Amino acid sequence: MNEMCLKFLAKSENEVFARNAVAAFVLPLNPTLDELSDVKTAVSEAVTNCIVHAYRGKTGWITLACKSENNRIHIEISDDGAGIEDVKKALEPFFTTLENEERSGMGFTIMQSFMDGFSVSSAAGKGTKVTMYKDFAAGASDAR
Ligand code: ATP
Ligand code: MG
Repeated sequence: MNEMCLKFLAKSENEVFARNAVAAFVLPLNPTLDELSDVKTAVSEAVTNCIVHAYRGKTGWITLACKSENNRIHIEISDDGAGIEDVKKALEPFFTTLENEERSGMGFTIMQSFMDGFSVSSAAGKGTKVTMYKDFAAGASDAR
């Protein structure tokens, strides 16, 4: 078991920082390149959502917490931004509240399909938390 927690500002350059930090953290679990790429993409989508939707270009904190357990990585990405009025609707493929900014509304759908577990909790005006996990086929070498 291992854990880490990072807090960083909602700036676009921190999307790369966040996905590479998670990639470095999961390396001991021996992910395949495909598994690693899935996790990095899911983290990018969640962090991008905090930047563009939660804080809408304003300054704010994003918290990224990771926990590894046997061959599973748990990831939590949360913000204290705008929140989501209707989570069920937000999870629908192609639903976006930023249509005129060329968003495709596929971020949550990508997170759901690339990870093995996924959920969102949100309160309008308070913030959003995305919780997800993925199981790696190989698992940590010391856990087998
Ligand atoms: P894409 O991800 O394809 O660029 P998108 O970001 O609009 O487009 P999703 O990532 O699926 O699509 O998110 C769907 C909707 O959920 C967003 O349009 C936004 O309204 C809302 N949303 C998602 N994440 C957050 C968040 N962290 N804070 C507030 N609203 C959010
Ligand atoms: Mg998105």
